[in-house]
Amino acid sequence: MKPLDDIFARLAKSPFRCRFQLGAQDRAYLDSKGREAVLDHAATFIAERLAPANPRNDGQQTPMRGHPVFVAQHATATCCRGCLAKWHAIPAGGALTDDEQRHVLAVIARWLDHQATRETPPRQVAQAKSRKKQKSPAGAYQASPETTLQLDMFAAEPPPDDD
Ligand SMILES: [Zn+2]
Repeated sequence: MKPLDDIFARLAKSPFRCRFQLGAQDRAYLDSKGREAVLDHAATFIAERLAPANPRNDGQQTPMRGHPVFVAQHATATCCRGCLAKWHAIPAGGALTDDEQRHVLAVIARWLDHQATRETPPRQVAQAKSRKKQKSPAGAYQASPETTLQLDMFAAEPPPDDD
């Protein structure tokens, strides 16, 4: 098992792992159920889907959405035994020990807590900002995204029917 700080520092450098963020529905679920209940679910998912020596459908046992813990698992590479081996140095092929299960739960809890402190998901903020900056300076001609789109539409016009 690797220290949590090391794991989180490495996760932060992975564009794939960083893509996983809690959506509005996940946040609402977390708020309504509460942290303790959601972490209880996490402990059950770990025990049933990760802890066995040979988990069922290993590599595909964690859905991409549908529960905040699933999102957390993909974000933290605790989604399957392959990712646990690669990112957390927990070898595959044997049942998870109690310590290892506690480690996985601590990783998920830390990620969820961090997400809960964010006001707005960063991607939505970035989009809102870039939308505001679309006007080009007066007089300067630039093909706007709309113009390009229209030209593309002409080019993509289907040929007349031959039959
Ligand atoms: Zn995985």
